[in-house]
Amino acid sequence: MSNESPAVVSSSALTALSATRLLQVITFTLVGLLVAMWVATGTTQTILFFGCTGLTMASWVAYRGHATAAAFLFLWTITLMLSALAYLSAGIRDLAVLGYPGLLVLAAIVGSGRLLFSLLFFIVGYCSLLAYWAITGVLVPVIPPVEAKHVVFTNVILLVTGFSVFLLFGDVRRLMGSLEAENARVRKTQAAIARLANHDQLTDLPNRRYCEELFVRAQNRSQQQHQRLAVLFLDLDNFKPVNDSLGHSAGDLLLQQLVLRLQSLLRPHDVLCRFGGDEFLLLVATDAHSDDAIMQLSEQLIKKTTKPFFISQMQVEISASIGIAFAPEHGTEFTALCRHADMAMYKAKQDGRNTYRFFHPDLDRINIDKFNMLQSMRQALKDRRFELYYQPKLDIEDGRVIGAEALIRWPQRDGSFIYPDQFIPLAESSGFISELGAWVIQEACAACARWQELGLTEVTVAVNVSYVQFRDGLLEQHVRQALQDSKLAATALELELTESLLIGEGDTIQQQLHSIHQLGCTLAIDDFGTGYSNLGYLRRFNATRLKIDKSFISSLCVSSRDQPLVHAIIQLANSLGLVSVAEGIEDEATLLQLRAMGCNEGQGYYWAKPMPEADFIAYLQKGAAINRADVIPIR
Ligand code: C2E
Ligand code: CA
Ligand code: CA
Repeated sequence: MSNESPAVVSSSALTALSATRLLQVITFTLVGLLVAMWVATGTTQTILFFGCTGLTMASWVAYRGHATAAAFLFLWTITLMLSALAYLSAGIRDLAVLGYPGLLVLAAIVGSGRLLFSLLFFIVGYCSLLAYWAITGVLVPVIPPVEAKHVVFTNVILLVTGFSVFLLFGDVRRLMGSLEAENARVRKTQAAIARLANHDQLTDLPNRRYCEELFVRAQNRSQQQHQRLAVLFLDLDNFKPVNDSLGHSAGDLLLQQLVLRLQSLLRPHDVLCRFGGDEFLLLVATDAHSDDAIMQLSEQLIKKTTKPFFISQMQVEISASIGIAFAPEHGTEFTALCRHADMAMYKAKQDGRNTYRFFHPDLDRINIDKFNMLQSMRQALKDRRFELYYQPKLDIEDGRVIGAEALIRWPQRDGSFIYPDQFIPLAESSGFISELGAWVIQEACAACARWQELGLTEVTVAVNVSYVQFRDGLLEQHVRQALQDSKLAATALELELTESLLIGEGDTIQQQLHSIHQLGCTLAIDDFGTGYSNLGYLRRFNATRLKIDKSFISSLCVSSRDQPLVHAIIQLANSLGLVSVAEGIEDEATLLQLRAMGCNEGQGYYWAKPMPEADFIAYLQKGAAINRADVIPIR
């Protein structure tokens, strides 16, 4: 019943209604007939008696709910009764004929078309016949003098007809009213559905789909007024970390507050849309010759965004990068303009975020590849298309696998890979590395926890961390979360940082490293030897390992120049209490030399290339089965 359409419900309601209504109409008519029978005499009384009997049967049928049959019985009884009365008395001029129109109206309301037309044809035919009989003298009409009973007959007919029509039309009116209400409800639901489809539920702003429609209107309007239409693409710079650390409901609250702030800057015809996540699009008609107003607006938008938010009694600060394109000079199509504004926004991010940039065709040429790559990188992270590969790290003395370095891979649809050197720099310069890095830490911790569950309890995992990941101050939070989610001991996670990180930036990074170290994680200095190689700061940063850059290792057996250097690094590491790690060991000769120099750990193609997790587990299990006393470690 619940999924029945409103039309079906109304028609069944109508049937039920007309059965009860019919019963009332029949009863009322019956009362009228009884009154008429009381004043009537002779044959008239007999005919009225038959009429009453027919109506009693009809009322019984109506009572049982059979509206159509009751209507048939009722109307035909009355018709035949009136016809008999007319035949026996004044024929075509008889009072009974007065009842016919009323009957037809009732038939039209309660009965089917078939009933109405059969009655109509009968009545027309019968009246013609009565007239014909009178004209030809077959029937001589008896027109009695008017008596009091005729007043009763007339009034019974009028009252019964009037009352019945009133009752039945009342129903029709009510039904129309309820249908109208139903229609209004359907219209309202449709409007609500349209609104849902066109608006973002969280902020109630128009969504991307609807934005396109609004864009066309805005563009037409600005054309008519000889103005340009500015398309501003606004992207929050560090919203994701807020979501991650404070929870989605806090993020939602922030977005709602932000929208109110942004709306306070808009004029009546400006359109603000939510494009998704933390992206907004603003359509503003502006002067055809000057950018001043848009520059001012962008500054105000950024100012409104950077003002601290108070969410769940916490002060949260974010910023925004804005890209601006104009119609018609940068395009007239919605998609093209959005893309250009997005590119300009990307330029704003590259230029240090929290600023705005105008689209320029040069931007298109220079940045198109990077822009595309960044877009697909974002999508790949959303679609979970990145993978972590693991390269075993071994103890050079006894060949034990002590852990793995997690190295990110970006598999392509054609089966090839994009290697980190090709996309990490872009991820860093765009700030995307923050999100990507958080995923790497999360994934690596989960993997290491799985290895430990398989009984490979000694194995640790090392993750590469970029200096950009320290910028928003959320690295510690990401590490904490990953450890908590995977239930991995903090001591099993190592972060690899490059030297440059330790040199350039000041106290904030040191503080963050300190708290991460406090959690129990270890730190490794990556690519040592390629930077400033100042051992002084290694101590300050609580590093545990020193990874000698593979450029020195791979040439160890070739270049005599590198041997003393590598030896010196190993000795320095030892004297500072740091574990020395050689990366890029590709052959046995190099391994033997490093072992002779006292290097502690190694990593390289000699043992294994980075591999998917399943292969790494198989590698670990094979390693665990081999005799550890074997001096040359497993391959
Ligand atoms: P890295 O940290 O120095 O990583 C070691 C690189 O050397 C890896 O390249 C590895 O495949 C390669 N390698 C290992 N053994 C040998 C060997 O015996 N011979 C040679 N020729 N190469 C060897 P990959 O995986 O292409 O990574 C390149 C760089 O990308 C990494 O250098 C690291 O700086 C960065 N990277 C990789 N994954 C991540 C990540 O998740 N986050 C960040 N921020 N950076 C990452
Ligand atoms: Ca590394
Ligand atoms: Ca390295």
